[in-house]
Amino acid sequence: MSESLQALQATPERVAIVTGAARGIGLASARWFLARGWRVAVVDKDAPALTTAHAALEAESPGRALAVHADVSDPAQVAAMVAQVDAALGRIDALVNNAGVAVFKPLVQTSFEEWRYVMATNLDGVFLLSQACVPVMRRNGGGAIVNIASISGLRASTLRVAYGTSKAALIHLTKQQAVELAGLGIRCNAIAPGPVETAMAKQVHTPAIRADYHDTVPLARYGTEEEIANGIGFLCSPEASYVTGQVLAVDGGFDAAGVGLP
Ligand code: NAD
Repeated sequence: MSESLQALQATPERVAIVTGAARGIGLASARWFLARGWRVAVVDKDAPALTTAHAALEAESPGRALAVHADVSDPAQVAAMVAQVDAALGRIDALVNNAGVAVFKPLVQTSFEEWRYVMATNLDGVFLLSQACVPVMRRNGGGAIVNIASISGLRASTLRVAYGTSKAALIHLTKQQAVELAGLGIRCNAIAPGPVETAMAKQVHTPAIRADYHDTVPLARYGTEEEIANGIGFLCSPEASYVTGQVLAVDGGFDAAGVGLP
């Protein structure tokens, strides 16, 4: 076992940053960490939703969650947010780059503004957060980064030129990070969720997409936020100490079936 992992395991109060944690998969992930004794910085750009989510976490796990309002696509806000977390919680053991946005359109209907909007959060945000957290993780001997990609980053489709491209690039960014940061004791992996019933899915999953997923996901249902959080938590935990540079599809078997995206 590496020294960094021994240090992680010996630390009673590990600290995680979860972005996009005001709802959905991010909020479920924050709960995963809190239930296991971690302290968590919950980050989101939606201030009212963040306040509501933090109040719920505070009621469940008093004094263990720190709410930080920040837009992950803004370099200055990211730098300030990581400095605030470091000052308040003293360390960062895990970073979950979960904040994401979706525009489901084909190439010819996607505006440049929509393309930039998706890339700014789904890709720039991960670059900025990871870069800002590495010095803090390094100071404490290592850590884990989990990037939330998508099955849309594994398969092309007619509808996801910006979203799918951002997630495919995120998978490669994960591998780059894994190789570069291994020497610092920092593991980097990605989760590729299948369809999950969140606000994002309600926004972009049309009835046709839903019907298609029912037919093409071998488990024949949407996943839950908690099922994705279980994968995220595993990859952040010492149990995954020899796992880095991987993409874990938590997708009800969709990727294995090898069918096309709706
Ligand atoms: P969601 O829309 O329910 O929640 C996303 C959260 O991220 C929101 O609270 C939002 O305010 C926040 N956010 C968005 N842009 C931000 C920014 N620039 N800075 C800070 N916060 C920001 O979405 P979700 O379904 O929970 O998705 C979470 C992640 O999982 C995303 O990366 C998404 O692409 C991915 N994913 C979701 C599904 C699905 O079916 N729901 C499938 C595959 C992958």
